[in-house]
Formats: sequence, structure tokens, C-alpha cells
Amino acid sequence: MLNKNLKSWIDVKADSDFSIHNIPFGIYSDKNVKHHACSAIGEYIIDLFELESADLLDMPRDVFEQQYLNAFIELGKTQTNKVRLRLIELLCDENSILNKDKAFFNKVFKKQSNVTMLMPVRIGDYTDFYSSIDHATNVGTMFRDPANALLPNWKHLPVGYHGRASSIRVSGHSFHRPKGQQKPADSEVPVFGASKLLDIELETAFIIGKSTEMGDSVTTEKADDYIFGMVLFNDWSARDIQTWEYVPLGPFLAKNFASTISPWIVTLEALEPFRVKGYEQTPKLLPYLEYKGDKNLDINLQVYLKPQNGKENLICTSNYKYMYYTMEQQLAHHTVNGCNINVGDMMASGTISGPQPHEYGSMLELTWRGTKPLKLEDGTERKFVNDNDTITIRGYCEKDGVRVGFGDCTGTLLPAK
Ligand code: CA
Repeated sequence: MLNKNLKSWIDVKADSDFSIHNIPFGIYSDKNVKHHACSAIGEYIIDLFELESADLLDMPRDVFEQQYLNAFIELGKTQTNKVRLRLIELLCDENSILNKDKAFFNKVFKKQSNVTMLMPVRIGDYTDFYSSIDHATNVGTMFRDPANALLPNWKHLPVGYHGRASSIRVSGHSFHRPKGQQKPADSEVPVFGASKLLDIELETAFIIGKSTEMGDSVTTEKADDYIFGMVLFNDWSARDIQTWEYVPLGPFLAKNFASTISPWIVTLEALEPFRVKGYEQTPKLLPYLEYKGDKNLDINLQVYLKPQNGKENLICTSNYKYMYYTMEQQLAHHTVNGCNINVGDMMASGTISGPQPHEYGSMLELTWRGTKPLKLEDGTERKFVNDNDTITIRGYCEKDGVRVGFGDCTGTLLPAK
């Protein structure tokens, strides 16, 4: 699957997320370009509209000058994979016009540091799952009974809820600490105010690449045909608002004020070489959730907290491979009742925690509900996120010296308005 012999004439550092094996898709803007579709290699973005303007991609050019990638993705995987493979070919061919014609090179390639990445897709519907067994066990232990941490349904279906797409923002944004109802433990009645327990959730999300009709279901076997690619995802959560409001229908205002995604959609094809065996699932699942083959993914994940004017502190190291349910099972479950899906829909993994304390994917777990504060290098402590803290999630796959990564997923918490 991995062709280690691929080598680009562009210099790519060994620790770059954007090797020749990646070739992700995104949308960028700069002082001359309002929005063009792009890919990335090393420290450059590759302007796909400019490439197609020179007839190098054999695609309808207008899909590359839209605000979002939806129209491009709607061309189907046969076409989008063709573009990705064509880019790899152009980037490996030393005789390519891109390598020979400096003026053309400068039109197509721009330093990533000189452009602004925009939202890659128009997200119609967003769903969030709850599929990490360590996360669900930790939360169940903290808030219920350690002996019965998982609720009876958990090992029979990937639990999820419908979230809100309007407040999902691309990396680099900032937002205000949310306000809402909370009920202090020592009070009989709720109070209103800024959340005091603002948390993060380390997640990934997959983006739907093929629509279905109402009544259709996607099987685990066919699910990969419907998944265009993945991004990193921070599901910011106000724990005090959540604790009071979530019964009986689940999260509402504790989650819908902001979420952050990384700007590059890494295709399922680029991630395929990093597939690993899935979590052993017992008891046996109903037939529609069974699947064959290695469907988990080995994606190293990190979370960094940076105080205002301070340094980044690594606060969590986890891995996507700890997920109990696969994306294929999540999608099969989501559609088993005939719920239709659309290109651009986003489905998030749920907080990805590992078995070790440093692998917990939320502050709630890392500080064990605030009882074990994190010590930062500047001497301060954190139980939850402080005003003006910046959180960055990073993630990459690595195998046999080949690296495929996601870039940064960064958001900053501002004081309440
Ligand atoms: Ca979540």
C-alpha cells in the first residue's frame, strides 16, 4: 500500500505533516485570492484552480474556485482520487512544467505561512459520537458508579447525538467563554453566569463524500465509499452547563457555542496504509455493526495548552487506535434507520482517551474533575481552560519513515462577553 519510493522534487522535511503521501484538500485565501481549493506539500499550498487553468488536472475548473470543497467532493471518489494521484505524479516528475517554469511555480505554490486557511466544507449536519471506551468509562466512573461505568447500551451501539454545525470554525479562531444556567452543588436553584468549567475534547471527525436518499442505509462494508476524509476536531464543552442541562436528552448549550476543526481534509486513501486492527468487541454486536478487516487507524494525537504570551504545554498524548467503534460502524449505525446523509456532513469521533492518565482527551479526565490540577511550565495550574488560553490539537500517522499529518487545530478562549 505504501510506495516508499515516492519522492518529490520539492524539499519536504521529515517531520512535515504534508509529505508526498498525504496530499490533503483545503480552501485558502490571500490578498489576491478570495477562495481557491488547494492541496499541500511541505511548507507550500498548491493552488488547484491555477493548476487547472493550465489544463493540468482535467477537471471542471469551477469546482476549484468556490468557497467550499463540496462541489469538488460531489464529483465522486473516482474523480477526487484522480486529482490526488495526478498531483503526486506532477510533484514527483522532475520534468514537470511546475519544476521547470519558475513563474508558473510561483503562481501555483505559496508558502503556507503566507496564506489563510478557510473552512474546507460547508457542513450541513454534524453528529458527535461517544465511542472511546476509556473516555466513557472515566466519565461513568466520575459521575456514576465505577462498577457500572458504562450504561447498558454502550457496548451494543455507538452512542451519539446530533450537534450544531453553525458554530464549527476553522483553526485559528477565537470565541467568548459561554454563559448559561448552572446549578451549584450547594444551591437548590440554578444560577446564571459565565461557565467556570470550560473544557476541551480531543476528537477527530470524518466528512461525508457521497450522499444517500432517505430510506437508504450504508453497510460497514460500503462505508468507506461514503467517507471522503478526516480532520482534527476540538469539541469545546462547558461542563457546569452540561451537568445541569443534559438530562434527559443529552448535551445542548454546553456544546453548541463553538467547535474547532483543522483546515486540511486528509483523504481516507492517504490514511489507508495506517489501518490497524480494531478494538476487540464483546459482547458480539448485531449483524449490521459487524465488519471485516483492519478498520481502526493508528493516528498519534497531542493536545497543547498555551497561556496568553506563554509557551505551549503538552497536556495530552493519545491515539485514535483506542477507539472502540470504527468510523464504518458509526456510519452504518447512523444510517441503519434510513437517515439520509449529505456531502459535507461531519461526524465526530467523541473524545479520544487512552488507558493511561496522560492519554485522557479532556481536562475533566486529565485533572480528574479538577482534583489533580495540571502544572504548567510557567508555574501556574489549570483545572479547566482559562481565559486567553490557546488549545492546539495535532495529529499524524507515521510508519516506515512515512508521515501523514493533519496540521494544527487551534482555538483561543476569550473572556465572556
Ligand atoms: Ca464530544
